[in-house]
Amino acid sequence: MKRLVTSEQVQELFKVQLENWQLARENYLALGRIKTKRFQYDDFEIHLQFNPARLVSSAAKTDNKSLKERKCFLCPANLPEEQRGLPFGDDYQVLVNPFPIFPEHFTIPLLKHLPQSLSTRFEDMLDMATALDKYVIFYNGPRCGASAPDHAHFQAGNKGFLPIEKEWKSIDKELLWERTGLKLYTLKNYLRSVLIIESEHKTDAAELFKSVYEMLEVKAGEEEPMFNVLTWREEDKWIVCLFLREKHRPACYSIEGDGNLLLSPGAVDMGGVLIIPLEKDFEKITKEDVSTVFREVRLNDMDKLSMRLKREL
Ligand SMILES: [Zn+2]
Repeated sequence: MKRLVTSEQVQELFKVQLENWQLARENYLALGRIKTKRFQYDDFEIHLQFNPARLVSSAAKTDNKSLKERKCFLCPANLPEEQRGLPFGDDYQVLVNPFPIFPEHFTIPLLKHLPQSLSTRFEDMLDMATALDKYVIFYNGPRCGASAPDHAHFQAGNKGFLPIEKEWKSIDKELLWERTGLKLYTLKNYLRSVLIIESEHKTDAAELFKSVYEMLEVKAGEEEPMFNVLTWREEDKWIVCLFLREKHRPACYSIEGDGNLLLSPGAVDMGGVLIIPLEKDFEKITKEDVSTVFREVRLNDMDKLSMRLKREL
C-alpha cells in the first residue's frame, strides 16, 4: 500500500509555507481582498474572480518553442528556495501554489519531467481525491488551461468553492448509462459540455472513464482529447466531472481592441469560477460575454456524443 498524505498534513504544509515564504504569504493575503461578483443564470451561477496574480498563468505561452526556452517551474531542481513539498506516493509531491485561486491551493506535479496527459494517471487522480478528502482535485489538459503542458501535474483546492459541486445534483440532467453503484450523466442547459461519473468503486470509475475516453475524438496535432477534469469524494462515492472542449481559448482572447478579454478557461472556470486577470475586463464583462466564452470553448456536438455513449457503452 502506497503511503499517501492526508488533508491534515497538507494543511500543515500550507501553514508552515505561509510563515516562511513571503511571496506565497503576500499572494494569499491579496486573494482575501480581491473583487468578485456573480452572474445568475436560470439554474446555476457563474462566479467571477478578478485575480491579477493569475496573469502569468492565463497569458502563458504554451507553444513548444516557448516551453523549451524557459526553465520548467514544476521540476524539483527549479523550485523556489523557500518551497517545500510533501511526497504523494512514489511519483508525486504536493506543493503550495503561490498564485492561488482557492483559499488553499496546491499543485501536485509528477517528480519526473514528463508531458501532461491523463490516460495513464487517472487512477492517481482518484487516489488524490481519497487521500485529500477536504479538496477537489483537478486536471487541465495540455491545451485546455495547463500552463506547464510539458510537466504532468494535478491541482487541489478547497471543497465548497466551485458552484458545480452543489449544482450537479440539482441541475436538469440526463442519465446516459448505469449499472449497480455506477452512473454516467450529462448536465442539460449548463453552458458547458460535461459528463458526470458517480461511482461507489474506484475501479469502476476508472473503467468507465477509460471507455468514455476511447470514444472521444483526438484533434489533429493533439496528444489526447481536449478536456478538463474535476473529481472529489462525496458520501463514499467518487464524483468525476469531465468537461469536453472544442477550443483552448475563446476568440476574445486574441482579438484586438475593445472586444479583447484575457480569459483562458481551465478546470476552475469550467467548474463555475471564471478567473479574470485584468481589472478592466472584470469591470466591463457582461453575462452575454460569459455565455459566448463557454459556448466557444465547449464541445460543439454534445448531443451526438451523448447518443453514442447511450448506444455503445
Ligand atoms: Zn518539469
